[in-house]
Amino acid sequence: MKKIQVQIEIINEMINHSIEENPNECCGLIGINSNQAQNVFKMSNIDKSPYRYRMDPKELLDTLTEIESDGGKLYAIYHSHTHSEAYPSATDVRIATWPDGTSVWPNVYYFLVTLQDLNKPYARAFEINDGEILEVEIVNS
Ligand SMILES: [Zn+2]
Repeated sequence: MKKIQVQIEIINEMINHSIEENPNECCGLIGINSNQAQNVFKMSNIDKSPYRYRMDPKELLDTLTEIESDGGKLYAIYHSHTHSEAYPSATDVRIATWPDGTSVWPNVYYFLVTLQDLNKPYARAFEINDGEILEVEIVNS
């Protein structure tokens, strides 16, 4: 399995955001700046739902502009599953994929946090390439 380095603070911030929004799903972006540092950008789930997430298009555009303004780029998109495992759902794969089968965000990871067991929240990471799910291993740094 491919391994990626993710700072422990980033994992903790995603988990804390998930708990804040529980029972609704949370969502957000992780940017990587020109110094290779990762940063969490919490986004609003405009669906305010326990079963799905949708980012506000204006907020998404503004945040991407902010991430890219200092030479950074989008590294990952995260959201929480409050009642199911940390694995992309059929809906997650659908919204990661254009109707022609190609990826909406090529080379961007998808991080999933699960709160299924509130005593043991954790995150897993995936690539969703042209509709196919491939897990990658998170290595804390
Ligand atoms: Zn999901």
